[in-house]
Amino acid sequence: MKIDVLTLFPEMFEAVFGVSVLKNAVDNNLLELKYINIRDYSDDKHKRVDDYPYGSGGGMVMQPAPIYNAYKNIEKECGHRPYVIYMSPQGKLFDQSKAIELSKRDHMVLLCGHYEGIDQRILDEIVDEEISMGDYVLTGGEIAAMAVIDACARMVPGVLDSEETFTHESLFEGLLEYPQYTRPPEFLGREVPEILLSGHHANIERWRRQQALIVTEKKRPDLLANANLSEEDIAFLKKYLQCKENCDIIPD
Ligand code: SAM
Repeated sequence: MKIDVLTLFPEMFEAVFGVSVLKNAVDNNLLELKYINIRDYSDDKHKRVDDYPYGSGGGMVMQPAPIYNAYKNIEKECGHRPYVIYMSPQGKLFDQSKAIELSKRDHMVLLCGHYEGIDQRILDEIVDEEISMGDYVLTGGEIAAMAVIDACARMVPGVLDSEETFTHESLFEGLLEYPQYTRPPEFLGREVPEILLSGHHANIERWRRQQALIVTEKKRPDLLANANLSEEDIAFLKKYLQCKENCDIIPD
């Protein structure tokens, strides 16, 4: 997977992706990350990339030409029209299903805005999709782009030790993950659930699935409507909901 980032602050990415799992992915040629400084493509002698908005109003707007020049250079280098995503509070909210979809792309360009945003004409010209990190406004698109890169790149085959690492995680199948425990078996009087020490894999899997259902019902009940539930899951949830009010013991 190749990701080109158009940004005014490439150094922000170098700090985040210069460590840990994604650094290994880059070192092992599973992931190619390129941070392109839009300022390098400004024709202005002072490398200016912004100007006052037409029609007045506060703040500055990123000019279209430097972004266009930077984009054209990517197009020339890769020999095709890349898929361009503009990080924007006006975009579709980023979620796991979008991350799964984008992780299958070979090449994408993430455009990060700043100031009051970007001249609409360049967005109309090159952007295929707008993605938002959440219903709030950030100073720039970089933090949102980093989240997109991280969430997508970790699903590229070979980046994590095994696919199970992410297919069992929260939101992959529409549920939140079951609770995790590690050594010691007892901490501050709280014990690891006995079943996890039993070595009985089928029972552990079943317990984990049921816990995932319970955790989702407690924390994000809205997710259940679109989750991929088996008949066994539905029967379990029904029982759980019936006795939730009155008992602490989770039904079998
Ligand atoms: N004036 C713009 C508006 O009201 O829609 C907001 C501009 S914001 C201060 C500057 C840049 O930060 C945007 O161009 C965008 O790239 C990025 N940004 C801000 N909030 C974001 C969010 N929730 N998700 C993704 N990118 C965001």
